[in-house]
Amino acid sequence: MKSFKNNIKTLSIVMMSIFMLMKCNTPADKAAGADDDAQMSKDRADIPENYKWNLADMYATQEYWEKAKKDLPGKFDKVAGFKGTLGRSASNLFNALEYIEVVIKELYMFGSYASMLSDGDIRESGPLGMDQEANQLYTKFGAAAAYVDPEILSIPEQRLNNFFRDEPKLEKFRQYIDNVYRMKTHTLNASEENLIAEAGIMQGNSGSIYSVFSNAEMPRAEVTLSNGEKVVLDASAYALYRASTNREDRKLVFDSFFKKMDEFKMTLGTQLYGKIKENMFVKNVRNYTSCLEASLNSNNIPTGVYHKLIENANKNLPILHRYLELKKRMMGVDELHYYDIYAPLVNDVDLKYSYEEGYDMIKKALAVLGDEYVNTLQEAFDGRWIDVYPNTGKRSGAYSNGSAYDVHPYILLNYNGQYEDVGTLAHELGHTMHSYFSNKHQPFINANYPIFLAEVASTANEALLMDHVLKQIEDPQIKLSILGNYLENARATLFRQTQFAEFELKIHELAEKGESLTGEKFSEIYLDILKKYYGHEDGVMVIDDVYAIEWAYIPHFYYNFYVFQYSTSFTASTMLAEQMLKGGEEMVDKYIDFLSSGNSEYAIPTLKKVGIDMETDEPFEVTMAKMNRVMDDIEAILDEIG
Ligand SMILES: [Zn+2]
Repeated sequence: MKSFKNNIKTLSIVMMSIFMLMKCNTPADKAAGADDDAQMSKDRADIPENYKWNLADMYATQEYWEKAKKDLPGKFDKVAGFKGTLGRSASNLFNALEYIEVVIKELYMFGSYASMLSDGDIRESGPLGMDQEANQLYTKFGAAAAYVDPEILSIPEQRLNNFFRDEPKLEKFRQYIDNVYRMKTHTLNASEENLIAEAGIMQGNSGSIYSVFSNAEMPRAEVTLSNGEKVVLDASAYALYRASTNREDRKLVFDSFFKKMDEFKMTLGTQLYGKIKENMFVKNVRNYTSCLEASLNSNNIPTGVYHKLIENANKNLPILHRYLELKKRMMGVDELHYYDIYAPLVNDVDLKYSYEEGYDMIKKALAVLGDEYVNTLQEAFDGRWIDVYPNTGKRSGAYSNGSAYDVHPYILLNYNGQYEDVGTLAHELGHTMHSYFSNKHQPFINANYPIFLAEVASTANEALLMDHVLKQIEDPQIKLSILGNYLENARATLFRQTQFAEFELKIHELAEKGESLTGEKFSEIYLDILKKYYGHEDGVMVIDDVYAIEWAYIPHFYYNFYVFQYSTSFTASTMLAEQMLKGGEEMVDKYIDFLSSGNSEYAIPTLKKVGIDMETDEPFEVTMAKMNRVMDDIEAILDEIG
C-alpha cells in the first residue's frame, strides 16, 4: 500500500455529504452589482427555453425526483446495514463502498436538482422546500454513514493490504482509503463520530444568522446623491454606487454604508466569534493544533502554502502600491482615498456582446486548449447546460455545478451583455469543463476535484480570454479598460483576498490563545491590516478609521479559511495560462490530464504535474511579473495618448 500518512486527498465519505455541491463562490468584490435591475427583469416564463438550462436531463419530471425522495431513506438504511461488516473480507469492503458510492452519487443529483430548480426563482416556495428537504437528507445520510471511516480505520493495515491484493476492483477506492488513514489521528470512535455528525445540525448557525441579519433585517442608511436621487444603501446598492464616477457620491456611499454597519458592531462581532467557536470545536474534538490546520487538512494542503501566500503578498506590496499610484495618475487626483477603490479607471467604454457573440469569442480564445475542449464547449451551448439571462426572482451572480455525475455540469448566469459578463461566462465554463473532464475520466468517488483546485481552470480561462481580446483590439481606450480591469482583478482577487486570509488567520490565532473576540477587536485588527496593504503610512492611499468595520461586510469569513484559495488559484492559473500560450501540443495534453484528474490525487501534486509548485514563490513571482508588464503597457499607452 502507498504510504498512507503522507498521501493527500480530499473528501471522506461522511464529509462528502456535507461538502456536496461543487459551486463557485464569487469573491466579495466580484459579486458587485450583479443583479441590480430586478425591476427590468422578465418573468422566467417569458424567457425562451433554449436560454434556460434543461433540468429534465436529471429527472424527466418532478415525479421522478419525488420518487427518489421516497427511495433514499431506505437506501440510507441499507448503508447503515453494512455496519460491522467492512473488515470481514475484501469483497465485503468493496460491496459496501460500491453501494455507498452509488447512494452519494444519487444524493448529489437529488440535491442539485432541488437547489437549481429553486435558484431559477427563489421566491417559489415549492422548490425552496425541496432544497430544504434535500439538506435534511444530507444530514440523515451523514448519520447513516458515520461509522464508515472509523470502521475502515479499525482494519489493521496489513489486512487492508491483503484486501487490495485479493480484490483488484478495490483499487478505485485506494485514494479514498488512503485519505481516511491520513486522517487517522483526527478520527474518533464510531459513537463519537456519530455525535459529531449529529452536532452538524448546529454548525452553520452563526453563518445563517449573519446571512439573515445582514441581507434582510439590518437597517440601512439612506443617502441623497448629487443628482438628488435618494438611495437606500443595501448591499447591492452599495456595490453599485460605490463605483460612481462622482467622487462626492462615492465618499458619501462608503461613509454612510459603513457608519450604519458600525452601529451593529457588537451583534456582528458576536456572530463572527460564533463561527470561530464552531471552528474551535472541530479543532479541539479532532485534535488539531490550529483551526488553520483543521481546515486545510481536509484537502491535505500544507499550512505552509497559506503562510507562504501571506508572506509573498506582504513582500510584494510595492507592486500593489505601484498599481495604486498608477490609478492615482489615471484618475488625476492628488490623494487617493479608500472610497476611490472602485472608481472606474477610464471612462466607460461601451463593449457590448450578445450571448452568441460572447460565446463565440470564448471558443476562439480557448482554441489553444485543443479540439476536444472546444467541441465540448459547443455541446454545452447546444445542450442547454446554461441558464443564461436574469429573470425576476432568479438567484444573483453565477456558478457552475458539476454534481450531476451521470448527466453533465450546469451553469447559472445573469448575462447582461457587458464585457464583464463574457468574462464570467468564460470563468464558469472553466469550472464546467473541469467537472466535465473529471466526471468523464474518473469513477464517481474520485471525480469531485479538490476545492483548492476549483478556481484554477476558471481563472485560467479569464486570462486566456483577455489575451485573445487584447490581440483583436486597436482602440487605446478599450485597451486601457481591459488592462485596467486585469489590474483591478489582481488587486481584488490576489491582494484583497490575501488580506482577508491574513485577517482570518489572525482572529483564529487569537481565539486559540484563549482571547475572546468582540466587534471592537475585529475592527482594530482589520484596520491595521487594511492600512498596511494599502500603504496608508506611506501615503499611497488614505484609509479612514470608519472603514475598520468592513470585515462585517464579507460573508466569506463564514466559509472557514476559504478565501486564500482565490489568491492561490490566481497565481496558479496565471502561470498555467502563460504556459498554454507558449503552447505546444504536449502542454495541451498535460492540461487536459490536469482537468481529468478530479481528486484521484491530492491538489498540490496534481498541480506539480503541470509544472506548478505552490510550495515555492514561483507562481506568485510569475504573477507579479505579469502585473508589472501590464502596468508597463498601460504607461506606454498613456505616454502615447498624452
Ligand atoms: Zn469560480
